Amino acid sequence: MQALQYVTVGAEPEVREIPTPEPGPGQVLLQVTAAGVCHSDDFVMSMPAEAFGFTLPLTLGHEGAGTVAAVGEGVRGLELGTSVVVYGPWGCGNCWFCAQGMENYCARAAELGIFPPGLGAPGAIAEYLIVDSPRHLVPIGGLDPVATVPLTDAGLTPYHAIKRSLGKLRPGSWAVVIGSGGLGHVAIQLLRHLSSARVIALDVSDDKLQFAKSVGAHEAVLSDAQAADNVRKITGAAGASLVLDFVGYQPTVDTAMAVAGVDSDVTIVGLGDGKSAARVGFGISPYEAAVTSPYWGTRAELIELIDLAHEGVLDIAVERFTLDEGPEAYRRLAAGTLRGRAVIVP
Ligand SMILES: [Zn+2]
Ligand SMILES: [Zn+2]
Repeated sequence: MQALQYVTVGAEPEVREIPTPEPGPGQVLLQVTAAGVCHSDDFVMSMPAEAFGFTLPLTLGHEGAGTVAAVGEGVRGLELGTSVVVYGPWGCGNCWFCAQGMENYCARAAELGIFPPGLGAPGAIAEYLIVDSPRHLVPIGGLDPVATVPLTDAGLTPYHAIKRSLGKLRPGSWAVVIGSGGLGHVAIQLLRHLSSARVIALDVSDDKLQFAKSVGAHEAVLSDAQAADNVRKITGAAGASLVLDFVGYQPTVDTAMAVAGVDSDVTIVGLGDGKSAARVGFGISPYEAAVTSPYWGTRAELIELIDLAHEGVLDIAVERFTLDEGPEAYRRLAAGTLRGRAVIVP
């Protein structure tokens, strides 16, 4: 089969011919119908050789959708041909976190060598994908896999980040979304659907701000050195009740902290360069502002999100690429010229 693989540290990923895998006991083989392209892949591929923790070559893709092509020994209750999406942050299934469906925070994954597809395990940007357990599949019925696959990360990550703060999003409050790309444009829609907060989107160009408004932002502010002042002109002294930073570089983290209100949540989702930090302390941050950096979401939340998708309330912007165009999709991602999510259709 063909797969998009990261082969050499620092080089572009390549389309390569590799053996089609067979499902072992308990595993499921999917014929991939769609796979998303994510900034965190870019982050991984920008790591220097000494910091790179995965075995190469690595098949990319941690957002996957497919149809069940074969099941391994012992797998029951899963019909061949079922259309599914893949829950990506695989855990052990048995620890306290996994028992809550929070496999994204599995206490034993590292010790057991369990990695998400595309981030250690072979990923979804290929013709076929091995999923380690039917537990990690959510059937999507008649939903379009291309429009649905971004929900597994670009949807699930903001859904998790928003859900934990819903109690703070009262009528009249403000939510600030920094970065309206793959994750941010879904976050804006989720905020509008799940809460009565008003939404301010920040991004770096007029067309991105227009895009943010087209998916539901009430206000759009250029993300520059004056961004915090301009947001404060809208929110007044109260500031924002929730700030979601989908960028995560130091300037956006600084903006996030500067627009946060008393008793707010500041949630830093974007990986940035992995070095930025928020300062918290008496006289430095607003009283009772809570800063957090979440990772992905829970199994139950992905099921909820697929149910939301069935309601037809989410409009995910996708640009389609073939497997051969995979390297180009990553170039466009790095250049910041994608509108919404790049999805590879093998
Ligand atoms: Zn991702
Ligand atoms: Zn676990």
